[in-house]
Amino acid sequence: MGAHALLSPSAAHRWLHCTAAPRLEANVADEGSSFALEGTLAHAYCALKLKQFMDWPTDSEEAEIKQLNDQYHTGEMDEYTDTYKTIVMEKYNAARVATPDARLLVETKLDFSEHVPDAFGTADAIIIADGVMEVIDFKYGKGVKVSAYRNPQMMIYALGAYDRFSFDYRIERVRMTIVQPRIDNLSEYEITVSELMAWVDEELTPKAKQAYEGNGPQVPGEWCQFCKVKNCCRALTERCTSTAADYPDPKLLTAEELATEVLPNLAVIKTWLTGVEDYALQQALSGVQLPGWKIVEGRSVRKITDPEAAAVALNQAGYKTTEIYKPQELRTITELEKMAGKKNFAAICGEFIDKPRGKPTLAPESDKRPAIDPVADDFKGINLTD
Ligand code: SF4
Repeated sequence: MGAHALLSPSAAHRWLHCTAAPRLEANVADEGSSFALEGTLAHAYCALKLKQFMDWPTDSEEAEIKQLNDQYHTGEMDEYTDTYKTIVMEKYNAARVATPDARLLVETKLDFSEHVPDAFGTADAIIIADGVMEVIDFKYGKGVKVSAYRNPQMMIYALGAYDRFSFDYRIERVRMTIVQPRIDNLSEYEITVSELMAWVDEELTPKAKQAYEGNGPQVPGEWCQFCKVKNCCRALTERCTSTAADYPDPKLLTAEELATEVLPNLAVIKTWLTGVEDYALQQALSGVQLPGWKIVEGRSVRKITDPEAAAVALNQAGYKTTEIYKPQELRTITELEKMAGKKNFAAICGEFIDKPRGKPTLAPESDKRPAIDPVADDFKGINLTD
């Protein structure tokens, strides 16, 4: 097995929709990011805290923490990983009430290769008990809210855990939980083992086979967001550049067309737009000729090379210190929360925080926020111009 599975569970949402993606992405290098390293450190703390609680050895977690701590540790990371530990321990204690020999497994390697070629992965926490098995995944990212509902990554982990432990325990149902504490997201979904197996037979295994062989179609959609070839994908480009060309009346859109044909495509088009410009520049910088385009020098910002010397010179020229320096400014709420931890910051500064109403935004019917009535609500206190 290599370090990365071609069909990784974390990318399953993508390759189940677009079975062409894994083979197209296979030759594109992973760009490591500071977010990924921050997530690795947070996961190490999660495992450490559970293992310490269970009185298990923590050498590997400590080694990982030592490597990344100086650069990525924050006060809020302590709070969020505590939240995860508390949730897992509560679930474990509840399982032990029903099954006294219930087991907690932390950072368990699972092999899914019987159903998904060459696939493997590591589950953050599994609780095995008679009746219900729990699979728990910690997400440190906060950009995309992740739901456990029929989440294919979680269902693949559930499958791997079921395969491994179903001989020793009578498992009838699997509960999948995503703990995403930075955005207060705790999402759970429960499924019977027979429903899980039906999904495996009808969807997972056939799609995995097609994706592994690389003979499936390219199907663009919101799952393109993290695809490594989104910036040069022909199917995605065609989808984004042909959206407005197929209407019966070519002159003006109806509200119906706007709602059903344009708005649902906006997320995909934004994904494509943000990536393709960077990609074209990278290509040009690496020597690829793009007919009709050239590289020019962009706008640059002047910089003071020695601020202290400049301040002295301005003082000597008669300008007061209060005129040449900006007033002291508090860091942003996000930065302060990161420093102090969200709960701690709320305890210290909660009375000084005001959250104004957000400006009206279009969202699909499925969005959980309540709808604003534009007739009854005069949008008082809402800034419409930002
Ligand atoms: S960008 Fe989208 S359509 Fe293209 S290969 Fe990736 S997932 Fe498939």
